Amino acid sequence: MKKKGFSTRAIHGEGENFARALNPPIFMTSTFSFPDLKQAEGVFEFKEPGFVYTRGNNPTLKQFEERMADLEGGEDAVAFGSGMAAISSTLLSFLQPGDELLAHRVLYGSSHKVVREFLPRYRIKTGQVDLTNLEDLEKALSSETRVVFLETPANPTLDILDISRIKELIGPEVALVVDNTIATPYWQRPLASGADVVVHSATKYISGHGDALGGVAVCRDKEYAGHLKFNYLTELGGVLSPFNAWLLLRGLKTLKVRMEEHGSNAEKIAGFLQGHPRVERVYYPGLPDHPGHELAARQMEGFGALVSFELQGGQKAARNLLSGLEMIKIAVSLGDTETLIEYPFAMTHRDYSPRELELFGLNESLVRISVGLEDPQDLLSDLEQAMEKI
Ligand SMILES: *Cc1c(COP(=O)(O)O)cnc(C)c1O
Repeated sequence: MKKKGFSTRAIHGEGENFARALNPPIFMTSTFSFPDLKQAEGVFEFKEPGFVYTRGNNPTLKQFEERMADLEGGEDAVAFGSGMAAISSTLLSFLQPGDELLAHRVLYGSSHKVVREFLPRYRIKTGQVDLTNLEDLEKALSSETRVVFLETPANPTLDILDISRIKELIGPEVALVVDNTIATPYWQRPLASGADVVVHSATKYISGHGDALGGVAVCRDKEYAGHLKFNYLTELGGVLSPFNAWLLLRGLKTLKVRMEEHGSNAEKIAGFLQGHPRVERVYYPGLPDHPGHELAARQMEGFGALVSFELQGGQKAARNLLSGLEMIKIAVSLGDTETLIEYPFAMTHRDYSPRELELFGLNESLVRISVGLEDPQDLLSDLEQAMEKI
Protein backbone atom coordinates (compact mmCIF):
# COMPACT_ATOMS: atom_id res chain seq x y z
CA MET A 1 0.00 0.00 0.00
CA LYS A 2 1.16 3.53 -0.77
CA LYS A 3 2.72 5.26 2.21
CA LYS A 4 0.32 7.81 3.64
CA GLY A 5 1.16 11.49 4.00
CA PHE A 6 2.71 13.13 7.05
CA SER A 7 -0.44 14.58 8.61
CA THR A 8 -2.48 11.44 8.00
CA ARG A 9 0.16 9.42 9.83
CA ALA A 10 0.52 12.04 12.58
CA ILE A 11 -3.24 12.02 13.17
CA HIS A 12 -4.15 8.36 12.79
CA GLY A 13 -1.02 6.41 13.52
CA GLU A 14 -1.46 2.69 13.81
CA GLY A 15 -1.53 0.24 16.63
CA GLU A 16 -3.89 -0.14 19.47
CA ASN A 17 -7.53 0.64 19.42
CA PHE A 18 -8.86 1.19 22.92
CA ALA A 19 -12.65 0.75 22.97
CA ARG A 20 -12.69 2.57 19.60
CA ALA A 21 -11.83 5.82 21.40
CA LEU A 22 -10.84 8.55 18.95
CA ASN A 23 -8.10 9.59 21.35
CA PRO A 24 -6.09 7.16 23.45
CA PRO A 25 -6.93 6.82 27.12
CA ILE A 26 -4.30 8.16 29.51
CA PHE A 27 -3.04 5.13 31.39
CA MET A 28 -2.26 6.81 34.70
CA THR A 29 -1.02 3.69 36.39
CA SER A 30 2.35 2.89 37.88
CA THR A 31 2.05 -0.89 37.60
CA PHE A 32 0.20 -3.63 35.72
CA SER A 33 -1.15 -6.84 37.19
CA PHE A 34 -1.02 -10.40 35.81
CA PRO A 35 -3.76 -13.04 35.88
CA ASP A 36 -1.25 -15.68 36.99
CA LEU A 37 2.44 -16.21 37.55
CA LYS A 38 2.87 -18.09 34.30
CA GLN A 39 1.82 -15.06 32.28
CA ALA A 40 3.97 -12.79 34.44
CA GLU A 41 6.97 -14.95 33.61
CA GLY A 42 6.15 -14.85 29.90
CA VAL A 43 6.11 -11.04 29.92
CA PHE A 44 9.28 -10.80 32.02
CA GLU A 45 11.05 -13.07 29.54
CA PHE A 46 9.79 -10.93 26.61
CA LYS A 47 8.03 -14.01 25.26
CA GLU A 48 4.61 -12.45 25.55
CA PRO A 49 3.51 -8.88 24.98
CA GLY A 50 2.41 -7.02 28.07
CA PHE A 51 3.22 -4.24 30.46
CA VAL A 52 4.99 -4.51 33.81
CA TYR A 53 5.66 -1.07 35.26
CA THR A 54 5.38 2.40 33.72
CA ARG A 55 9.12 3.07 34.06
CA GLY A 56 9.57 0.24 31.53
CA ASN A 57 6.51 0.86 29.37
CA ASN A 58 2.90 1.96 29.33
CA PRO A 59 0.30 1.87 26.53
CA THR A 60 0.03 5.68 26.22
CA LEU A 61 3.82 6.04 26.06
CA LYS A 62 4.02 3.20 23.56
CA GLN A 63 1.56 4.94 21.28
CA PHE A 64 3.63 8.13 21.36
CA GLU A 65 6.82 6.15 20.68
CA GLU A 66 5.28 4.33 17.72
CA ARG A 67 3.95 7.58 16.26
CA MET A 68 7.36 9.27 16.53
CA ALA A 69 9.19 6.25 15.06
CA ASP A 70 6.85 6.32 12.08
CA LEU A 71 7.16 10.08 11.48
CA GLU A 72 10.98 10.03 11.73
CA GLY A 73 11.31 6.83 9.70
CA GLY A 74 12.92 4.88 12.55
CA GLU A 75 12.54 1.29 13.66
CA ASP A 76 11.58 2.18 17.22
CA ALA A 77 11.58 5.07 19.68
CA VAL A 78 12.04 5.60 23.41
CA ALA A 79 10.09 8.35 25.18
CA PHE A 80 11.71 10.39 27.95
CA GLY A 81 10.55 12.92 30.53
CA SER A 82 12.40 15.79 28.81
CA GLY A 83 14.68 16.49 25.89
CA MET A 84 17.68 16.49 28.23
CA ALA A 85 16.73 13.06 29.63
CA ALA A 86 16.65 11.75 26.04
CA ILE A 87 19.97 13.40 25.13
CA SER A 88 21.93 12.46 28.26
CA SER A 89 20.69 8.85 28.26
CA THR A 90 21.36 8.42 24.54
CA LEU A 91 24.90 9.81 24.76
CA LEU A 92 25.71 7.70 27.84
CA SER A 93 24.42 4.58 26.10
CA PHE A 94 27.26 4.76 23.54
CA LEU A 95 30.12 5.84 25.81
CA GLN A 96 32.52 4.15 28.24
CA PRO A 97 35.44 5.70 30.14
CA GLY A 98 38.25 6.36 27.65
CA ASP A 99 35.88 6.85 24.69
CA GLU A 100 35.52 10.16 22.91
CA LEU A 101 32.54 12.24 21.83
CA LEU A 102 32.79 15.00 19.24
CA ALA A 103 30.11 17.68 19.02
CA HIS A 104 29.46 20.77 16.95
CA ARG A 105 30.70 24.01 18.53
CA VAL A 106 27.15 25.39 18.83
CA LEU A 107 24.90 23.32 21.10
CA TYR A 108 21.79 23.87 23.19
CA GLY A 109 22.94 25.23 26.59
CA SER A 110 22.27 22.13 28.72
CA SER A 111 23.63 19.79 26.02
CA HIS A 112 26.78 21.91 26.05
CA LYS A 113 27.04 21.42 29.80
CA VAL A 114 26.64 17.63 29.48
CA VAL A 115 29.38 17.59 26.82
CA ARG A 116 31.79 20.01 28.53
CA GLU A 117 31.32 19.20 32.21
CA PHE A 118 29.26 16.09 32.91
CA LEU A 119 30.75 13.44 30.57
CA PRO A 120 34.41 14.39 31.28
CA ARG A 121 33.80 13.65 35.00
CA TYR A 122 33.39 9.99 33.96
CA ARG A 123 36.67 10.04 31.98
CA ILE A 124 34.86 10.41 28.66
CA LYS A 125 36.82 12.68 26.35
CA THR A 126 34.79 15.35 24.62
CA GLY A 127 35.70 17.82 21.92
CA GLN A 128 33.82 20.51 20.06
CA VAL A 129 34.59 21.28 16.45
CA ASP A 130 33.12 23.40 13.72
CA LEU A 131 31.12 20.77 11.85
CA THR A 132 30.36 23.20 9.02
CA ASN A 133 33.99 22.50 8.11
CA LEU A 134 34.45 18.78 7.43
CA GLU A 135 38.24 19.09 7.41
CA ASP A 136 38.07 20.08 11.09
CA LEU A 137 36.04 16.94 11.79
CA GLU A 138 38.45 14.74 9.86
CA LYS A 139 41.38 16.12 11.88
CA ALA A 140 39.57 15.68 15.19
CA LEU A 141 38.45 12.06 14.63
CA SER A 142 40.49 9.44 16.47
CA SER A 143 40.33 5.72 17.15
CA GLU A 144 38.58 6.57 20.43
CA THR A 145 35.74 8.53 18.80
CA ARG A 146 32.45 6.69 19.41
CA VAL A 147 29.82 9.40 18.96
CA VAL A 148 29.31 12.55 16.92
CA PHE A 149 26.52 14.74 18.31
CA LEU A 150 24.99 17.72 16.58
CA GLU A 151 21.92 19.91 16.15
CA THR A 152 20.91 21.17 12.76
CA PRO A 153 19.76 23.91 12.52
CA ALA A 154 21.90 24.76 15.56
CA ASN A 155 20.49 27.30 17.95
CA PRO A 156 20.92 30.35 18.11
CA THR A 157 23.10 30.96 15.04
CA LEU A 158 21.15 28.43 12.96
CA ASP A 159 24.22 26.76 11.47
CA ILE A 160 23.21 24.06 9.01
CA LEU A 161 25.23 20.83 9.14
CA ASP A 162 25.46 18.24 6.38
CA ILE A 163 24.13 15.05 8.01
CA SER A 164 24.86 12.65 5.14
CA ARG A 165 28.41 13.91 4.49
CA ILE A 166 29.21 13.78 8.22
CA LYS A 167 27.95 10.18 8.41
CA GLU A 168 29.98 9.24 5.33
CA LEU A 169 33.10 10.67 6.93
CA ILE A 170 32.72 9.05 10.37
CA GLY A 171 31.64 5.66 9.01
CA PRO A 172 29.39 2.98 10.46
CA GLU A 173 31.44 2.44 13.64
CA VAL A 174 30.80 5.91 15.03
CA ALA A 175 27.23 6.69 16.14
CA LEU A 176 25.72 9.88 14.73
CA VAL A 177 23.19 11.44 17.12
CA VAL A 178 21.17 14.34 15.70
CA ASP A 179 18.99 16.71 17.73
CA ASN A 180 16.06 17.43 15.40
CA THR A 181 14.11 19.68 17.80
CA ILE A 182 14.24 22.80 15.65
CA ALA A 183 13.35 21.28 12.26
CA THR A 184 10.91 18.60 13.54
CA PRO A 185 10.23 15.46 11.45
CA TYR A 186 7.90 17.55 9.31
CA TRP A 187 10.84 19.42 7.78
CA GLN A 188 13.79 17.07 8.27
CA ARG A 189 14.29 13.33 8.77
CA PRO A 190 17.92 12.80 9.79
CA LEU A 191 17.68 8.96 9.86
CA ALA A 192 17.17 8.98 6.09
CA SER A 193 20.42 10.98 5.76
CA GLY A 194 22.41 8.48 7.84
CA ALA A 195 21.88 9.46 11.48
CA ASP A 196 21.72 6.54 13.91
CA VAL A 197 19.57 8.19 16.57
CA VAL A 198 17.38 11.30 16.39
CA VAL A 199 16.70 13.03 19.69
CA HIS A 200 14.05 15.65 20.41
CA SER A 201 12.95 18.06 22.99
CA ALA A 202 9.26 17.27 22.43
CA THR A 203 8.62 20.19 24.79
CA LYS A 204 8.98 22.50 21.80
CA TYR A 205 7.12 22.11 18.47
CA ILE A 206 5.83 18.58 19.12
CA SER A 207 3.90 19.75 22.17
CA GLY A 208 3.49 23.10 20.47
CA HIS A 209 1.56 24.79 23.25
CA GLY A 210 4.15 25.39 25.96
CA ASP A 211 2.32 23.14 28.41
CA ALA A 212 4.31 19.90 28.63
CA LEU A 213 7.90 18.74 28.91
CA GLY A 214 8.93 15.63 27.05
CA GLY A 215 11.66 14.04 25.00
CA VAL A 216 12.18 11.14 22.64
CA ALA A 217 14.99 9.21 20.97
CA VAL A 218 14.09 7.63 17.62
CA CYS A 219 16.39 4.81 16.59
CA ARG A 220 17.45 3.32 13.28
CA ASP A 221 18.02 -0.03 14.97
CA LYS A 222 15.36 -1.88 16.96
CA GLU A 223 17.85 -3.78 19.09
CA TYR A 224 19.64 -0.58 20.09
CA ALA A 225 16.25 0.95 21.06
CA GLY A 226 15.69 -1.97 23.46
CA HIS A 227 19.17 -1.41 24.94
CA LEU A 228 18.46 2.31 25.41
CA LYS A 229 15.08 1.60 26.98
CA PHE A 230 15.94 -1.27 29.30
CA ASN A 231 19.52 -0.38 30.26
CA TYR A 232 19.31 3.43 30.40
CA LEU A 233 15.75 4.82 30.52
CA THR A 234 14.51 2.30 33.06
CA GLU A 235 17.69 2.42 35.17
CA LEU A 236 18.34 6.18 35.10
CA GLY A 237 14.61 6.79 35.33
CA GLY A 238 13.96 9.81 33.07
CA VAL A 239 10.44 8.57 32.28
CA LEU A 240 7.70 10.54 30.52
CA SER A 241 4.34 10.89 32.28
CA PRO A 242 1.47 9.17 30.42
CA PHE A 243 -0.44 12.44 30.71
CA ASN A 244 2.35 14.29 28.87
CA ALA A 245 2.52 11.52 26.24
CA TRP A 246 -1.17 12.17 25.61
CA LEU A 247 -0.53 15.92 25.22
CA LEU A 248 2.34 15.20 22.83
CA LEU A 249 0.15 12.85 20.75
CA ARG A 250 -2.37 15.67 20.57
CA GLY A 251 0.35 18.12 19.52
CA LEU A 252 1.52 15.83 16.71
CA LYS A 253 -1.89 15.94 15.05
CA THR A 254 -1.47 19.61 14.16
CA LEU A 255 2.31 19.62 13.65
CA LYS A 256 2.15 20.13 9.89
CA VAL A 257 -0.32 23.03 9.93
CA ARG A 258 1.50 24.69 12.81
CA MET A 259 4.92 24.34 11.17
CA GLU A 260 3.63 25.77 7.90
CA GLU A 261 2.25 28.80 9.73
CA HIS A 262 5.30 29.20 12.02
CA GLY A 263 7.50 29.07 8.91
CA SER A 264 5.49 31.58 6.92
CA ASN A 265 5.47 34.04 9.85
CA ALA A 266 9.22 33.52 10.35
CA GLU A 267 9.90 34.29 6.70
CA LYS A 268 8.00 37.58 7.02
CA ILE A 269 9.84 38.55 10.20
CA ALA A 270 13.23 37.67 8.70
CA GLY A 271 12.41 39.83 5.67
CA PHE A 272 11.31 42.74 7.87
CA LEU A 273 14.46 42.52 10.00
CA GLN A 274 16.73 42.26 7.01
CA GLY A 275 15.36 45.49 5.63
CA HIS A 276 15.49 47.36 8.95
CA PRO A 277 18.17 50.05 9.36
CA ARG A 278 18.79 49.17 13.03
CA VAL A 279 19.58 45.54 12.23
CA GLU A 280 23.18 44.61 11.52
CA ARG A 281 22.71 40.98 10.52
CA VAL A 282 19.91 38.39 10.32
CA TYR A 283 20.42 34.64 10.86
CA TYR A 284 17.68 32.71 9.10
CA PRO A 285 18.46 29.72 6.84
CA GLY A 286 15.71 30.78 4.45
CA LEU A 287 17.63 33.93 3.46
CA PRO A 288 19.85 33.39 0.40
CA ASP A 289 22.84 35.05 2.14
CA HIS A 290 22.77 32.60 5.10
CA PRO A 291 25.89 30.40 4.79
CA GLY A 292 23.78 27.24 5.14
CA HIS A 293 20.99 28.30 2.76
CA GLU A 294 21.76 25.91 -0.11
CA LEU A 295 22.37 22.96 2.16
CA ALA A 296 19.17 23.72 4.10
CA ALA A 297 17.22 23.84 0.84
CA ARG A 298 18.54 20.36 0.00
CA GLN A 299 18.43 18.74 3.42
CA MET A 300 15.22 20.23 4.80
CA GLU A 301 11.74 20.83 3.42
CA GLY A 302 11.36 24.16 5.23
CA PHE A 303 13.67 26.65 6.92
CA GLY A 304 12.41 26.55 10.49
CA ALA A 305 10.81 29.28 12.54
CA LEU A 306 13.66 30.63 14.64
CA VAL A 307 15.13 33.96 13.60
CA SER A 308 18.19 35.45 15.26
CA PHE A 309 19.57 38.89 14.57
CA GLU A 310 22.22 41.35 15.66
CA LEU A 311 21.21 44.90 16.43
CA GLN A 312 23.26 48.00 15.90
CA GLY A 313 24.06 49.55 19.24
CA GLY A 314 25.01 46.38 21.14
CA GLN A 315 23.75 45.65 24.58
CA LYS A 316 21.86 48.90 25.10
CA ALA A 317 19.88 48.49 21.89
CA ALA A 318 19.07 44.84 22.67
CA ARG A 319 17.84 45.71 26.18
CA ASN A 320 15.73 48.58 24.85
CA LEU A 321 14.19 46.42 22.15
CA LEU A 322 13.12 43.75 24.62
CA SER A 323 11.70 46.28 27.09
CA GLY A 324 9.83 48.06 24.32
CA LEU A 325 7.83 45.05 23.12
CA GLU A 326 4.14 45.00 24.02
CA MET A 327 2.87 41.61 22.83
CA ILE A 328 5.93 39.48 22.11
CA LYS A 329 6.93 37.76 25.36
CA ILE A 330 10.40 37.66 26.88
CA ALA A 331 10.99 33.97 27.56
CA VAL A 332 13.31 31.05 26.88
CA SER A 333 11.97 27.96 25.10
CA LEU A 334 10.62 27.86 21.58
CA GLY A 335 8.00 26.26 19.39
CA ASP A 336 4.97 27.60 21.22
CA THR A 337 1.93 29.37 19.78
CA GLU A 338 3.18 32.60 21.41
CA THR A 339 6.09 34.45 19.85
CA LEU A 340 8.96 34.42 22.35
CA ILE A 341 12.04 36.58 22.33
CA GLU A 342 15.21 35.93 24.27
CA TYR A 343 18.51 37.75 24.71
CA PRO A 344 21.14 35.00 25.12
CA PHE A 345 23.83 37.35 26.44
CA ALA A 346 21.76 38.23 29.54
CA MET A 347 19.61 35.09 29.78
CA THR A 348 20.50 31.58 28.55
CA HIS A 349 24.18 32.23 27.96
CA ARG A 350 24.97 34.64 30.80
CA ASP A 351 27.36 32.24 32.57
CA TYR A 352 29.57 31.59 29.58
CA SER A 353 33.04 33.07 29.28
CA PRO A 354 33.79 35.47 26.41
CA ARG A 355 35.75 32.65 24.74
CA GLU A 356 32.81 30.28 24.95
CA LEU A 357 30.42 32.94 23.67
CA GLU A 358 32.68 33.30 20.68
CA LEU A 359 32.58 29.53 20.22
CA PHE A 360 28.79 29.74 20.09
CA GLY A 361 29.04 32.60 17.61
CA LEU A 362 27.27 34.81 20.14
CA ASN A 363 27.80 38.42 20.96
CA GLU A 364 26.05 41.06 23.03
CA SER A 365 24.01 42.27 20.05
CA LEU A 366 22.34 38.94 19.32
CA VAL A 367 18.64 38.44 19.95
CA ARG A 368 16.60 35.32 19.12
CA ILE A 369 12.92 35.09 18.25
CA SER A 370 10.87 31.90 18.26
CA VAL A 371 8.16 32.95 15.86
CA GLY A 372 4.68 31.97 17.00
CA LEU A 373 1.29 31.70 15.37
CA GLU A 374 -0.12 35.19 15.91
CA ASP A 375 -1.24 37.21 12.89
CA PRO A 376 1.94 38.34 11.15
CA GLN A 377 0.87 42.00 10.84
CA ASP A 378 0.58 42.18 14.66
CA LEU A 379 4.02 40.67 15.14
CA LEU A 380 5.54 43.09 12.64
CA SER A 381 3.89 46.12 14.21
CA ASP A 382 5.04 45.13 17.71
CA LEU A 383 8.61 44.77 16.45
CA GLU A 384 8.34 48.00 14.49
CA GLN A 385 7.13 50.06 17.46
CA ALA A 386 9.80 48.54 19.76
CA MET A 387 12.51 49.33 17.16
CA GLU A 388 11.33 52.93 17.22
CA LYS A 389 11.89 53.07 21.00
CA ILE A 390 15.52 51.92 20.78
C1 LIG B 1 14.93 22.74 24.68
C2 LIG B 1 15.96 21.98 23.94
C3 LIG B 1 16.58 20.87 24.52
C4 LIG B 1 16.26 20.41 25.93
O1 LIG B 1 14.96 19.92 26.03
P1 LIG B 1 14.11 19.91 27.40
O2 LIG B 1 12.82 19.31 26.96
O3 LIG B 1 14.00 21.32 27.86
O4 LIG B 1 14.86 19.06 28.36
C5 LIG B 1 17.51 20.20 23.76
N1 LIG B 1 17.84 20.59 22.52
C6 LIG B 1 17.27 21.66 21.94
C7 LIG B 1 17.68 22.05 20.56
C8 LIG B 1 16.31 22.40 22.63
O5 LIG B 1 15.75 23.47 22.05
